[in-house]
Amino acid sequence: MRIAMIGTGYVGLVSGVCFSDFGHEVICVDKDPRKIEKLERGEVPIFEPGLDALMIKNVEAGRLSFTLDLASAVKQADAVFIAVGTPTRRGDGHADLTYVMAAAEEIAKAADRYIVIVTKSTVPVGTNAKVREVVAAANPDLEFDVASNPEFLREGAAIDDFMKPDRVVVGVETERAAQVMSDIYRPLYLRDFPIVTTDLESAEMIKYAANAFLAVKITFINEIAALCEKVGADVKQVSKGMGLDGRIGNKFLHAGPGYGGSCFPKDTKALARIGQEHASPMLITEAVIKINEDVKRRMIDKLLDLCGGSFNGKTVAVLGVTFKPNTDDMRDAPALTIVPALVGGGAKVRACDPQGRHEGEALLPGIGWSEDPYAAAEGADLLVILTEWNEFRALDLKRIAGAMTTARMADLRNVYSASDAEAAGFAAYDSIGRAGYG
Ligand code: NAD
Repeated sequence: MRIAMIGTGYVGLVSGVCFSDFGHEVICVDKDPRKIEKLERGEVPIFEPGLDALMIKNVEAGRLSFTLDLASAVKQADAVFIAVGTPTRRGDGHADLTYVMAAAEEIAKAADRYIVIVTKSTVPVGTNAKVREVVAAANPDLEFDVASNPEFLREGAAIDDFMKPDRVVVGVETERAAQVMSDIYRPLYLRDFPIVTTDLESAEMIKYAANAFLAVKITFINEIAALCEKVGADVKQVSKGMGLDGRIGNKFLHAGPGYGGSCFPKDTKALARIGQEHASPMLITEAVIKINEDVKRRMIDKLLDLCGGSFNGKTVAVLGVTFKPNTDDMRDAPALTIVPALVGGGAKVRACDPQGRHEGEALLPGIGWSEDPYAAAEGADLLVILTEWNEFRALDLKRIAGAMTTARMADLRNVYSASDAEAAGFAAYDSIGRAGYG
């Protein structure tokens, strides 16, 4: 199959590279010349473990290339995937479909024979039908089908998720499009990965329902964590005891500083908006959105308590700024709420993150950066663990405490325990949903 992938972000680039590894001929398109220049030099513009090697392997095999020229890529393709961003629209929470519709129109104008236009971006129910209308209006003679193929990969584990998915969801309207999609995913069919074939609307809905459900699960355990702190329970023990129940499962049951990232915040808002528009309110999702904001605010209160009520004049070491480990993505990361609150309160902040510095420097003005956690802790009054990178999971806590002016720790990922902190000489320790001290 010949595939054009429009958008070379986290989803488009990973999908394009993996499809080429399946043996397809893939051209990845982006309108950002800096991204395409980098890719043509063999550099990956994002941090995603394993992506660079797989990309280079397939470029060298002659199956993968990059271009700014959408029209030429579309003319050579059997299927064109739209993997552009669908951020939250300003003001109303709706998914902004400007990039999707612009790409659809460009594809329509360039195409001159039968193609399947596949939406991989996360889009509200009804969008694929709108894509069909836009394409038909822009090129009335074109023979084409649309397909919905939402993506479920997780940043940080994206290649494995793409190559060994829990399922692939394909929404189609015609046998012909179903055949093209099944040819594209043939390597996964052959290895018995479940392929769920649906109508367009159900495929679009599955993506939002799945993401909202995961956001509910995270938020539920965060709410339980707050209650644990009040009643003297330990949320780590509680989530272990809950998660061993096969009906519940242990994934997404770790209390933390609130969900962030490029998907959950915008997709929950979009689902809530879709519900409002159809007079079928998504009350659970709406509550989750509100509770998640409260969770982030509660984190700031925790830090304030540890600092004796004021950040003014304090030096704070922040370990981790990305929304989760193994990515450089900072979209809607809890750090974007917590760090400005520290700086705004008069603290001097020094951050350390294995991959987040480049993005972080642009998004978190007015803070310093350290190459390693020990340098970050030097002379600090508070250490905040904000992202559970492996690099922060086995720290020499005695060395950290010894380097600090006042050894206090806010462990917002429950990496350590109060007894670890006490043994290392920390004067104060607080975490999520467990007893602290100091
Ligand atoms: P991204 O912002 O990283 O990448 C989007 C890319 O599309 C950018 O490089 C941009 O320059 C390019 N682009 C926009 N319009 C274009 C056009 N007309 N022609 C060519 N290129 C164009 O976005 P992302 O994180 O990859 O997300 C893409 C979609 O996938 C979103 O809808 C998102 O919700 C969904 N999704 C993301 C993830 C994730 O973990 N990031 C997971 C599943 C689904």
